[in-house]
Amino acid sequence: MTELTLAGPRPAISDVAQDQLAAWLVARGEPAYRASQILAGVYRAQARRFEDLTDLPIGLRPALDAGFHFSTIVASHVLEADGGLTAKAVHELHDGQRIESVLMRTPASARQAARTTICISSQAGCAVGCPFCATGQAGFGRQLSAGEIVDQVLHWHRAPWLALGPDWRAGAAAGHYNIVFMGMGEPLNNVPAVFEAVRLLNDSGRLGIGARHITVSTSGVVPGMGRMIDELPQVNLAISLHAPDDELRDELVPINRKWPIAEVVAAGRRFAERTHRRVSLEYVMIDGLNDSDELAKRLAGLARGWLSHVNLIPLNPTPGSRWSGSPPNRIRAFQTVLRDAGVPVTVRNTRGREIEAACGQLHAQLAGRWLPGQPEPKRSVNQGAAAGVA
Ligand code: SAH
Ligand code: SF4
Repeated sequence: MTELTLAGPRPAISDVAQDQLAAWLVARGEPAYRASQILAGVYRAQARRFEDLTDLPIGLRPALDAGFHFSTIVASHVLEADGGLTAKAVHELHDGQRIESVLMRTPASARQAARTTICISSQAGCAVGCPFCATGQAGFGRQLSAGEIVDQVLHWHRAPWLALGPDWRAGAAAGHYNIVFMGMGEPLNNVPAVFEAVRLLNDSGRLGIGARHITVSTSGVVPGMGRMIDELPQVNLAISLHAPDDELRDELVPINRKWPIAEVVAAGRRFAERTHRRVSLEYVMIDGLNDSDELAKRLAGLARGWLSHVNLIPLNPTPGSRWSGSPPNRIRAFQTVLRDAGVPVTVRNTRGREIEAACGQLHAQLAGRWLPGQPEPKRSVNQGAAAGVA
């Protein structure tokens, strides 16, 4: 059985570059080509430990086990909702930091094939400090490595415990996922690891997830948006706007004091013009605070005339929050103002609410309710993730 702790000098295989792995193999008298064979094996849906890579020579598997951890994730605690269509994991990392990821599945309809969306974290905590967000309230922990980002996707890719129907199985086998950076953290405050993770997810020798199926959501880090145009022009961009005037946005998204609305919207426009990709403007609806018709008109003014789309999200209040989500009739009225102004607008469904699937919230709940080693709460499944912790 693989060791439980990642402490010590063994790196996780997902944080090792292919050429480093090749050098490690050659130093042991193995051919360099085994590096790609090992990496392909690690990304195979059913592989959960090096012993599962049965196409490798028998002696190499324990050597890999002695040299590397199979995953950066030590253990995962999973909560399911919607009859298993939505599931959320809190992942424990080697230094005790906790991050979370969410799996959302949409069954096939007459118009669309079944879809699987995986929402992942880019940092442990977040320094931006949005007051409505559980992650923001908890503060910044540390940057995630590219491997720690990719391993969240692999966690779900390997998840045999979800009763996958044939539709889902086919999608999972082919790596047909949508990936959204909407978990914990500000992805454009961790550009090196996030961009590297996108390249790894994209790699046809690994999961081969198309860049067009990946979305980076940002609170408005303008230089990072510029780097996306240059380096990841096929990845989707979502901007968390949440307020159409600077005074209100300074409060809701404090990074606005550094890059105010005009600069953020200009960067979004530039992205749309250069990449020809529609930019999503996210707008969390908070009762009585940012949901008036007047603000809808101002938002329409910012969204009109370029390739944008407004996504309205009812606030999912954090424990002890002074705010609540806007009522459905207010959301509809706000949506109507935008639509009448010619702005494409949708209301994001709030699936997974019963497991608190909004940004950072399960983490906050578990911090006060359940820790590993304690009896599991109802509907929770305690799993060792990829480290072979059965
Ligand atoms: N830091 C990035 C990505 C992670 S947050 C960003 O802010 O865009 C992902 C999305 O969840 C953001 O649009 C964020 O504003 C939203 N969010 C955070 N807390 C929320 C809550 N309590 N209710 C609804 N949406 C929330
Ligand atoms: Fe950070 Fe995004 Fe939460 Fe704001 S909403 S605190 S940017 S994770």
